[in-house]
Amino acid sequence: MLESLSNSLQSALNRLRGKGRLTEADVQEAMREIRLALLAADVNVKVVRDFVNRVRERAVGQDLQKSLTPGQQVVKIVYEELTELMGGAQARIQMAPKPPTVVMLVGLQGAGKTTAIAKLGLAFRQHQHRPLLVAADVYRPAAIDQLKVLGKQIDIPVFDQGADANPVAIAKASLAEAEKAGADIVLIDTAGRLHIDDQLMEELEGMKAAVQPTEILLVVDAMTGQDAVHVAETFHQRLGVTGVILTKLDGDARGGAALTVRAVTGCPIKYVGLGEKIEPLEPFHPDRLASRILG
Ligand code: GDP
Repeated sequence: MLESLSNSLQSALNRLRGKGRLTEADVQEAMREIRLALLAADVNVKVVRDFVNRVRERAVGQDLQKSLTPGQQVVKIVYEELTELMGGAQARIQMAPKPPTVVMLVGLQGAGKTTAIAKLGLAFRQHQHRPLLVAADVYRPAAIDQLKVLGKQIDIPVFDQGADANPVAIAKASLAEAEKAGADIVLIDTAGRLHIDDQLMEELEGMKAAVQPTEILLVVDAMTGQDAVHVAETFHQRLGVTGVILTKLDGDARGGAALTVRAVTGCPIKYVGLGEKIEPLEPFHPDRLASRILG
């Protein structure tokens, strides 16, 4: 995961680790290498600049902790700043004060929305919830069937009204169905498109008004780097996204989306997708990813 970023950051920091004293030139050189590593990972340019400035300021003005060598302290600062960049503490999902909690999953076609909804269903069931999956992606051929098949496979009920029904009406009807079935969390799979368009946004706004979700989770593909960040900005402006599900982090994503989306949009990553297999979706822990990257 994020192997190339990890290798280049580690090699920049390894040179410092063992040193008993750091000269200004050592720090400058390390900052240069960190900057290049982040740029190569497709991290937003301004985010890189701010990041390196913060690390440099702290590294130069550091209060010396006797237990750490100066090099180790720089490593610690980079770790802390990486964690902070990705949101600091784990961002948890909000539950409605009165069930059902309604969660809309939105995102472009192919991002991994349908897969994520099944995985999210499993994650909730693991915590003793009773999820209902809702097939409101009526435009992509086979999306409804795909969700029904997944639901059957993991034994979680799926609500659908076929491909001719109106998505907003399906979402509304699913709330009554949830009540009837005793489901306490409703996960709505919405339509995706290949590109963002106005009609899609209007439909999603209509659905938001109709079902008043507690969470609107945007599913983005980590492999698309800065494009994922632009997508997140647009969805957030129109819909008020409450969290991001970053999929395909198991692939050879360079890391730009993971490291930038929070800083640019303010939306925390709440879950990550780590494979095609339907397993409970993994909550995102910024500190764990930061320590994985730094090895
Ligand atoms: P949707 O169009 O957004 O509903 O996307 P799908 O859920 O159908 O996923 C598109 C493709 O991405 C499928 O082939 C999935 O198996 C794959 N996929 C989804 N999530 C992940 C992930 O976390 N890792 C990997 N490697 N593949 C994923």
